[in-house]
Amino acid sequence: MIDHKKIEQAVMLFLEGIGEDVCREGLKETPERIARMCGELYGGMEEDAAVHLSKTFSVDSSEMVIEKDITFYSTCEHHILPFYGKVHIAYIPDGKVVGLSKLARAVEVFARRLQLQEQLTGQIADALMESMQPKGALVMIEAEHMCMTMRGIKKPGSRTVTLAKRGVFETDSALEERFFRMMRAER
Ligand code: ZN
Repeated sequence: MIDHKKIEQAVMLFLEGIGEDVCREGLKETPERIARMCGELYGGMEEDAAVHLSKTFSVDSSEMVIEKDITFYSTCEHHILPFYGKVHIAYIPDGKVVGLSKLARAVEVFARRLQLQEQLTGQIADALMESMQPKGALVMIEAEHMCMTMRGIKKPGSRTVTLAKRGVFETDSALEERFFRMMRAER
């Protein structure tokens, strides 16, 4: 549950902590503004991806489905700075597929909370497996981390790539190769 009062108090303390004058014009409404924004950035904690992923429809085919370049924005839990990029999802249906917009909705649920990229990747893959019971799922995330680009080693444009494989993708390496071929083919 997001507690606006606590966030406002914390932001006031934080601003004082970095030596700011919390009464100056530009900062007057900042604590309240941040508290409101937190609902949008971290509201995913109160949501369940299964709500979106359980709206499936039946198919005969068990051909690989790929939804690529799903844009996401999340927040790194180590620095509370944004990381953002693209999620690519592949799955092998077992009689059921899900509307393509629902995959993007499921990504949002996990992205809108404090995260680690590796964990985000795994959570999306697990949610797919649980809600849709496909034969297998593969999730790949390419992201830029502001904690790497605006501070620390400052390497703008560097991207972190993570991969999570479940079901048949874990045992059949030909499927993974096909995923990468299909990804390249359209680029
Ligand atoms: Zn970080």
